[in-house]
Amino acid sequence: MNLKNKVLGEFGTTVFEVMSRLALEHNSINLGQGFPDGVGPKNVLEKAANSLYSSPNQYPPMMGVPELRKAVAGHNKRFYGIDVDWETETMISTGATEGLAACFFGLLNPGDEVVLIEPLYDCYLPIIKRAGGIPKMVTIRPPDWSLDPEQLRAAFSAKTKLLLLNTPQNPASKVYNLEELKLIAGLVREFDAIAICDEVYEHMVFDGNEHISLMTLPGMRDRTIRISSAGKTFSLTGWKVGYLTGSHELIKAIAKAHQFLVFTTAPNLQRAVAFGLNQDDDYFENLNSEMNAKRDKLANSLSEIAGFNPVACEGSYFLFVDIADTGFGGTDIDFCKYITTKAGVTAVPVSAFYQSNAPKNFIRFCFAKKDSILDEAASRLAAHFG
Ligand code: PMP
Ligand code: GLN
Repeated sequence: MNLKNKVLGEFGTTVFEVMSRLALEHNSINLGQGFPDGVGPKNVLEKAANSLYSSPNQYPPMMGVPELRKAVAGHNKRFYGIDVDWETETMISTGATEGLAACFFGLLNPGDEVVLIEPLYDCYLPIIKRAGGIPKMVTIRPPDWSLDPEQLRAAFSAKTKLLLLNTPQNPASKVYNLEELKLIAGLVREFDAIAICDEVYEHMVFDGNEHISLMTLPGMRDRTIRISSAGKTFSLTGWKVGYLTGSHELIKAIAKAHQFLVFTTAPNLQRAVAFGLNQDDDYFENLNSEMNAKRDKLANSLSEIAGFNPVACEGSYFLFVDIADTGFGGTDIDFCKYITTKAGVTAVPVSAFYQSNAPKNFIRFCFAKKDSILDEAASRLAAHFG
């Protein structure tokens, strides 16, 4: 008997798990899988701990606890000027991942087309395909990551139901500018589609770039779902608290899937995230400047190593490095295994994020780590590559 589902069976183990396991095995510094190495903001942790004892721990409402839904609405207004009715236009999910899955299962019918821009975060494709969606891929490439308007238009058709936009984009570290967003919004409107916007890195945007939500463009308010995550905004990736904003009609359709996927999310964590989102602007500015400084630190030290050429990183917590000049003979996958086992530093191969014609000379480092860890990683690589 073939136990595997026909669609999911074709996917291997995710690159994050594979590289993290290898890092552990070789006692290597893990700059592969994207997660910060701190404990998270103390006041948010305290709120979670206190809520565990002071509030009910039974099933919270399916759409999320009211204080978090109100905080999500307030956050939309404060940062993007979007007016949101918390009772009908927000939904709390178990991480952005479940929110995305609920969008795909709740909105797609078999045969519907979904426009995606690769390199892609790894959970999109398996879930879209499992939901019966047909991916239509647009490709951007390092080092300039430019979006070809012709290629983008060609990906749309009368069958397009969704477009997925991830900005700031993992792993490209690209922040889509207004001109690109206008182009995307124009096509979404023209083809009467819906935009699913994965904006989990919304508070990590550097060098004067601005995170613009596609939802704020003309005609997009009611055809966009905006998804973000406490995992990134509070450096608590294990918490798995995500939040969705969109029109009542869209949220209702998405909740049809959410109710049967997970129904709800840990109540004390939801309350702590509500507290977190309500903090002053200082919190968000500090997060951004801390990450910016870490990006600079890693990019500067890696650029001093022979053959390592960091690519511009506009946002997220990932740095691309071009390794072509190292003279290494193998692929990016070979290189990541090589530095894990020989230099004691782990990165992830960028080809894992492409479906076809992947560039083979780029690797991705996560810089959301303690400064001492970033320094040690750079000095190990410098020692190895001389
Ligand atoms: N989208 C992107 C682009 C991500 O990088 C990640 C996770 N790292 C997620 C979604 C998933 O977020 P969560 O952990 O909240 O499910
Ligand atoms: N988003 C993280 C990354 O890109 C990892 C998420 C995961 O491990 N599933 O590295």
